[in-house]
Amino acid sequence: RIVYVNGAYVPEEEAKVSVFDRGFLMADAVYEVTSVLDGKLIDFEGHTARLRRSLSELEMPSPATDEELLAIHRELVARNGIHDGLVYLQVSRGAADRDFAYPDVPPTLVLFTQEKPQLVDSPLAARGMSVISIPDQRWKRRDIKTTQLLYPSMGKMMAKAAGADDAWMVEEGVVTEGTSNNAYIVTGNTLVTRQLGPEILSGITRTAVLRLAQEAQLRVEERPFTIEEAQSADEAFITSATTFVTPVVKIDGQGIGAGRPGPITQRLRELYIEEGRKAAI
Ligand code: PMP
Repeated sequence: RIVYVNGAYVPEEEAKVSVFDRGFLMADAVYEVTSVLDGKLIDFEGHTARLRRSLSELEMPSPATDEELLAIHRELVARNGIHDGLVYLQVSRGAADRDFAYPDVPPTLVLFTQEKPQLVDSPLAARGMSVISIPDQRWKRRDIKTTQLLYPSMGKMMAKAAGADDAWMVEEGVVTEGTSNNAYIVTGNTLVTRQLGPEILSGITRTAVLRLAQEAQLRVEERPFTIEEAQSADEAFITSATTFVTPVVKIDGQGIGAGRPGPITQRLRELYIEEGRKAAI
């Protein structure tokens, strides 16, 4: 695999980042994951816009212009022959003597690709996921997409141990989001998902799916919901760049609706993939 590190395209075995890099030492880094379908990037502008925001919230210098980032994404997709898959991008504050205060050094920019043949024909999307609820014990600036992913990793392991696919996190009695996705419920014609704020990441897929839902004449309510409300909903699902729209059919052992992927969820998945392909660059 060819990866990109600070201006160079190199085989992954030859890619080098300093042991003093603050991404490595302090999770002082932000990232984005963009899906690729038919060799084209889905929602690229949304991901670069959110990257800019993450960088600015952390006063991290920009490693490249949007045009340069697009060119690097395309070059990596081409060099690695990616048909369906993803591009991972990470910017860290760079390498410097270890000190909590921000150093004035150039940022480290790393990108790599991953082929994922089952992105569209996902077995998980066909069967529907089971989730468990866990307390949300992350830091309080979840709107910044940092590489501090240890608690979400613990959440995935808790889900695994419980025989589930993923976890929904709960804070002050209401759902924030999934370990790596936004969470939704559908009752009748109404779609509910938590409102944006520092408590959750503003999903790029979320923005697109809420627009599609409105266009499909669904009522969209952006507000908190409880696990109990989710358990008595007709349908539930998650969204993220790499899962698109994926049904949730069980929450804490309780079946949702008919216990299989619901029609509105499936329709939104189809619409998202269809529209995503059309707008891909
Ligand atoms: N919330 C969290 C915590 C995430 O990690 C992700 C995926 N990066 C999302 C939501 C979904 O965001 P997106 O649709 O931009 O992938």
